[in-house]
Amino acid sequence: MTSREIREAFLEFFKSKSHHIVPSAPVVVKNDPTLMFTNAGMNQFKDLFLGEAAVKYSRIADTQRCLRVSGKHNDLEEVGIDTYHHTLFEMLGNWSFGDYFKKEAIAWAWELFTEVYKLDKDRLYVTIFEGDDSEGLVRDQEAYDFWKEFIAEDRILLGNKKDNFWEMGDMGPCGPCSEIHYDMRTDAERASQKGQELVNADHPQVIEVWNLVFMQFNRLKNGSLEPLPAKHVDTGMGFERLVRAIQGKTSNYDTDVFQPLIAYISQKSGVQYGAAEKTDIAMRVLSDHIRAVSFAIADGQLPSNNKAGYVIRRILRRAVRYAYTFLDFKQPFFHELVPVLAAQFKGVFDELYQQQDFVEKVVLEEEISFLRTLTTGIQRFENYVEGNQLIDGDFAFELFDTYGFPIDLTELLAREKGLTVDMDAFDRALLAQKERSRAATTTDTGDWVIVGEGDEVEFVGYDALEATTRIQKYRKV
Ligand code: ATP
Ligand code: MG
Ligand code: MG
Ligand code: MG
Repeated sequence: MTSREIREAFLEFFKSKSHHIVPSAPVVVKNDPTLMFTNAGMNQFKDLFLGEAAVKYSRIADTQRCLRVSGKHNDLEEVGIDTYHHTLFEMLGNWSFGDYFKKEAIAWAWELFTEVYKLDKDRLYVTIFEGDDSEGLVRDQEAYDFWKEFIAEDRILLGNKKDNFWEMGDMGPCGPCSEIHYDMRTDAERASQKGQELVNADHPQVIEVWNLVFMQFNRLKNGSLEPLPAKHVDTGMGFERLVRAIQGKTSNYDTDVFQPLIAYISQKSGVQYGAAEKTDIAMRVLSDHIRAVSFAIADGQLPSNNKAGYVIRRILRRAVRYAYTFLDFKQPFFHELVPVLAAQFKGVFDELYQQQDFVEKVVLEEEISFLRTLTTGIQRFENYVEGNQLIDGDFAFELFDTYGFPIDLTELLAREKGLTVDMDAFDRALLAQKERSRAATTTDTGDWVIVGEGDEVEFVGYDALEATTRIQKYRKV
């Protein structure tokens, strides 16, 4: 099956189960102070779950474009390094608003996987909520019993509150969830690791594909739980992961979702995908990031110097930097991927196709301006290194702050010259700047400080966050 057929089959399947199919909401969220970008299929139905809007259709299905690059869900640092976390991805979902519950949700998931998609039953695992004593919550025996009708009991694994109990926030609807994982290890590997329980995180080829959430409680202000009068189902399935499982690939990037982009990048750079880890990562980053950047712009979020706009600008610059450093694109290139992507999504999300020229222009302008700084910064670097053995932390910080150089680029340039960067001094300079920014925001919610959702994470600018995490990454090497 092609990815188009797979998407179509999902929607058709749920249509045949009396679901009303709705379009994807924009990936950019306006009018919700708690959320910058749509990060799950359920976002657009939040008011229905909270009982703040009337339910018109009690069964709904769709494919929702999601972005997980900020706040509670931030997968950015995994993207391109692993092969199944993306910035922008499609989340296929089906919902019941006070209509069907666990029995149907589980039976239909199984039917779709095994009869429509013909996935190998022996490669499926499911997880259910094991219960939590501190909350007086018992194990989700209902879900367990429904699964037992389809799948051997040793493939039903118990999961803790972190993975298998979903909550929208401190208050409101919540409940246990049941995940479906698909095992894409080779036969040889499976044989040699027989008997070992495997879920998501244990092996890069055993991947969480679908999450079925059963909302049956309401968390009250005092923290206690009461049963919901009307129970709901909220499911979310990673489309690109599903395609990978059905197409039998070991990486999302090997599916027809990403191959047109990878092929274009490969052709234009003259580098073969698969030739080296560094260039592979760069190609994955480019083919992923163009999706986030393009749809954000098409949905109304231009790159800018603050908040959501700054997140998009940094993703774009991250891509340009990868292209420049690892694939030797010294001239604007990233924007060329827009038409390739728009063609892929024609008839699926037409928003991009309809605004293709505009999106391409915006990306090109951004590229031109960043490449200008990048080139100047490199010149500054060349002058500095004459006679210097160590790249001093303050200088690395100047490159970072003034020229927008991510610290890993500075390190790479240094290595090429046989030099090292004083990372401790750089960290100190970075920290000092964080403190300055923090002080500044007490009087002025300035341009580049982004406050995380629910205040649980304080974003002190995207540069700072990225620089810090990349330092850790490079130190491990
Ligand atoms: P993971 O544990 O792999 O990070 P998750 O538990 O955070 O996934 P959910 O919030 O349960 O994900 O979202 C529902 C589904 O969306 C997941 O089962 C997965 O298939 C898909 N998904 C989640 N995050 C991503 C991502 N960054 N890129 C692609 N697909 C994703
Ligand atoms: Mg996650
Ligand atoms: Mg998970
Ligand atoms: Mg999950």
